Amino acid sequence: MNLNDKVALVTGAASGIGRATAIAYASAGASVVVSDVDAAGGEETVQMITDAGGTATFIACDVTSEDSVASLIAGVEEQYGGLDMAYNNAGIVAKFEHVHKKPVEDFDRVIAVNVRGVFLCMKYEIPLMLKNGGGAIVNTSSTAGLVGVPGIVDYAASKHAVVGMTKTAAIEYAKQGIRINCIHPAGVNTPMIAGMNVSEDIAPLLNADTPMGRLGEPQEIADAVVWLSSDEASFITGTSLPIDAGSTAV
Ligand code: NAD
Repeated sequence: MNLNDKVALVTGAASGIGRATAIAYASAGASVVVSDVDAAGGEETVQMITDAGGTATFIACDVTSEDSVASLIAGVEEQYGGLDMAYNNAGIVAKFEHVHKKPVEDFDRVIAVNVRGVFLCMKYEIPLMLKNGGGAIVNTSSTAGLVGVPGIVDYAASKHAVVGMTKTAAIEYAKQGIRINCIHPAGVNTPMIAGMNVSEDIAPLLNADTPMGRLGEPQEIADAVVWLSSDEASFITGTSLPIDAGSTAV
């Protein structure tokens, strides 16, 4: 993949899949805006990219805040003059509890980051891409955006919502050269998974019971995102792509 002269933005790029994707965009030649609420982790990602000879800048952003997202996108335009690719990846999961025990605050927080965050990012990325005549956006859903997952009604609701937002936006901007897709990773070996109080309910989605019998690695998600963002995927929009070791095929 050749992404020379392209500008890519990754939210939630201080850790896990976002960091791996920021590095993958940079390895393919793109200049990368690394964004996160975690400034230390974001700067570390930038350092990893620049140490490898790539180009990257950190801009802090809380994706739940409209002002913060607006200033992120203004910063991208100021520093790089435009935006070709955006990976809206920032996301959280709350403590596993069945519906009747789920704290309302957890539900609201997950929806704020995973739904409002993706909406706000697209809302501000799209006008900048339109100025350039097009672009590509990848949003992060989950296998929990395709099937029910006991213990995380909030997360499943949020990741199903990502599919609806992706398909709707894809149709709205298809003729204006912006492709918008989403991905559905199954369990990937990141700090998010390490921090979960995974209940036995969802163990089959995460571990050796999946058809491939293993977790994914962040790089395996990053490679798919870079491809979906690139001109090699020029006829693909409105798609939601499982990257899930076959777990939703069962
Ligand atoms: P992670 O916890 O390693 O990274 C998430 C990043 O998002 C962190 O750096 C965090 O600081 C950032 N973040 C959190 N809230 C934010 C906010 N309000 N504004 C900006 N940044 C914020 O998690 P990960 O596993 O790399 O997950 C990345 C994405 O992939 C998430 O959307 C997650 O839901 C999704 N996903 C992960 C898995 C998995 O198994 N790891 C599976 C499916 C989908």
